[in-house]
Amino acid sequence: MSILVVGSIALDTVETPFGQAEEALGGAAVYFSYAASFFNHVRLVGVVGKDFPDEHIELLEARDIDLAGLERAEGETFRWQGRYDYDLNEAHTLDTQLNVFESFEPKIPDSFKDSDFVFLANIQPGLQLRVARQVASPRVVACDTMNFWIEGAYDELRETLKAVDILIINDAEARELAREPSLVKGARKILNWGPDTLVVKRGEYGVLMFNRRSVFSAPAYPLEDVFDPTGAGDTFAGGFMGFLSTVEEVNENAIRQAIVFGSTLASFNVEDFSLGRMKSLTMEEILDRFSEFKQLAHFEEIEA
Ligand code: AMP
Repeated sequence: MSILVVGSIALDTVETPFGQAEEALGGAAVYFSYAASFFNHVRLVGVVGKDFPDEHIELLEARDIDLAGLERAEGETFRWQGRYDYDLNEAHTLDTQLNVFESFEPKIPDSFKDSDFVFLANIQPGLQLRVARQVASPRVVACDTMNFWIEGAYDELRETLKAVDILIINDAEARELAREPSLVKGARKILNWGPDTLVVKRGEYGVLMFNRRSVFSAPAYPLEDVFDPTGAGDTFAGGFMGFLSTVEEVNENAIRQAIVFGSTLASFNVEDFSLGRMKSLTMEEILDRFSEFKQLAHFEEIEA
């Protein structure tokens, strides 16, 4: 099973109360593919400029990530600059330089068109839809978005959602998209617009999953030290889709397990800046923490 991702590839400058990173490797598609590569073969579609360091390409290639869809355009790579205060759930964007990302028109190589799992990371909703339509018969299409598109391209986003099976967004985005302060009511609305599963990321408070039959809640791993939350959402999506791509049947049980794998990967990612922690991560560590998650939320029935 193969996983296709389209999204940003960035050089991030990030400041948190615990340190900073300058022009470090980032971007939604990078965080996603790195996390998903622990489970399966990933195909990446994105754009970088001529200034993008070769060492970053080598890092992705070393994870067996297929870069046939990586375009190297004239100009500079997308740059994002952000700051987090003590509330690490909220990123303050200081600067966004779209550069080559501004005129990005994703081209899906023929060799990617038979992909089974598709993740449309946070890009213009019209582009997301065009990518989804280029894949012949995906088993699962998942999608992320952000307030910028909810506010600026609402109708297009609603159109894109018709082609999406799983929407993965944070709680503020879910409320804004549904125009509804209650997450439960908002989820019911969103589930009528296309996706049959809504995954709501709530930072250090964990994840809520809604479908028409049930609600599932997973905690976040209680880490002692969080250094940099950048990319946590995309790393979550990578772990989630990565695991899903390994199961025979994408059913409720598999989606619940995938949510815990996503949370596991994200909990490692925030332990260091950029991909610092991910670079040394092993499958053994992932499986150990997955088991700890089960223990974390387990409780017994009371005797009747
Ligand atoms: P996350 O923390 O998971 O929401 O994603 C953070 C990543 O998103 C960073 O590495 C940024 O480079 C990237 N990013 C920030 N703003 C944008 C944007 N407007 N479009 C696409 N990617 C972005």
